Amino acid sequence: MSFAALGLSDSILKAVTDKGYHTPSPIQAQAIPAVLQGTDLMAAAQTGTGKTAGFTLPLLELLTQGERAQANQARALIITPTRELAAQIGQSISDYGKYLPLTSTVVFGGVKINPQMMRLRKGVDILVATPGRLLDLYNQRAIKFNQLEVLVLDEADRMLDMGFIHDIRKILAILPKHRQNLLFSATFSDEIRRLAKGIVHNPIEISVSPRNTTAETVKQWICPVDKKKKSALLTQLIQEHQWEQVLVFTRTKRGANQLTRHLEEKGIHAAAIHGNKSQGARTKALAEFKQGAIRILVATDIAARGLDIDQLPQVVNFDLPNVPEDYVHRIGRTGRAGATGQAVSLVSADEFQQLSDIERLIKKRLPREIIDGFDPLHVLPESRLNTKPYKPKKPKKPKVGHRDGQRSGTNKQGNQPRRRNSQSQTRRVKK
Ligand code: AMP
Repeated sequence: MSFAALGLSDSILKAVTDKGYHTPSPIQAQAIPAVLQGTDLMAAAQTGTGKTAGFTLPLLELLTQGERAQANQARALIITPTRELAAQIGQSISDYGKYLPLTSTVVFGGVKINPQMMRLRKGVDILVATPGRLLDLYNQRAIKFNQLEVLVLDEADRMLDMGFIHDIRKILAILPKHRQNLLFSATFSDEIRRLAKGIVHNPIEISVSPRNTTAETVKQWICPVDKKKKSALLTQLIQEHQWEQVLVFTRTKRGANQLTRHLEEKGIHAAAIHGNKSQGARTKALAEFKQGAIRILVATDIAARGLDIDQLPQVVNFDLPNVPEDYVHRIGRTGRAGATGQAVSLVSADEFQQLSDIERLIKKRLPREIIDGFDPLHVLPESRLNTKPYKPKKPKKPKVGHRDGQRSGTNKQGNQPRRRNSQSQTRRVKK
């Protein structure tokens, strides 16, 4: 199967070739013809499947026809939960649409609103937005939707987790009724299906790649170690193996800051990326990491979700996540597109429960390696895989009313909120 067979025009095919893509990913092969037909779509796909091109490419194709956007109007609206995802989608649109005369812009919270209002003045073909800032712009009459043709809701499950449901409902209420709707979500829980009912009509349903499997190209292993020695162990591993470009996950923002300071003290150039960092600081850290100016990027789960970093060779779980699915997401950062990667988790005895939940979820025991000089005093037991399958605990009610730019989905202690998109709650959509 080639991109040309999917019904895309030459300008788009050329841009796709420039990106180095040869074959459509499964979500692209299914979603692109469906969107081009003008039908509504419900797709179960997570980051890493190529879903962004799955909706961006046909959207660009559709918008080449029809009337151009008038002042303060948008013809297509893409709503996504985080600033990073918004920026990445914006970049994809620029890349794939570079031979087309279409306009697009990205708006999100945490930065000045005025420049965004200026950019909307002439109208745009595609607007990418986070929910809170979009409503602010609408309330200030900077954006109108009389010309809206297509709505894309990206990472719908994440939006619900982050408490955006009220904002989403408000947005839906101000959009014209007649439009094409594309809904993407990693999972389709009952809550998402309820939301979907009011959005999509007779949708084509697509599901790709089973969830909760970790790529075989990723070598995964754990280092049992005492909590106090984790920073020293990580420093040694980085230096000894001369790891470059390492994405390190911590559970809390405070933990990310502390570890970054520790690495810097040891002469290892590192930066933290989390919800308390300004947008400017996050963008700068990511750019420097991609260029290789920063060797270690220390991130919390929320900040890291959806980061588009190609072929990352090394992921380190400095802390195990509380929610085992986050482990799968973290590992998804490496070994992409056939590249091999390595993921190591530093696990202390008090994280035994988290380790057991992860090993039950991925249905395998991770190989262990104790590093000389770091033998743990507190023993990490072996987890038992033959017990009941992992069942998620009831999620905490998300706090409502917060806006992007203020909270980024973490609570006061800096912990990540519980995710509710577990496999056991997932009803996979049929093709
Ligand atoms: P996404 O799931 O949209 O975040 O995309 C994941 C990654 O896959 C991004 O780095 C894309 O640039 C890349 N990608 C998307 N489509 C293809 C394709 N057909 N072939 C190779 N890489 C792709």
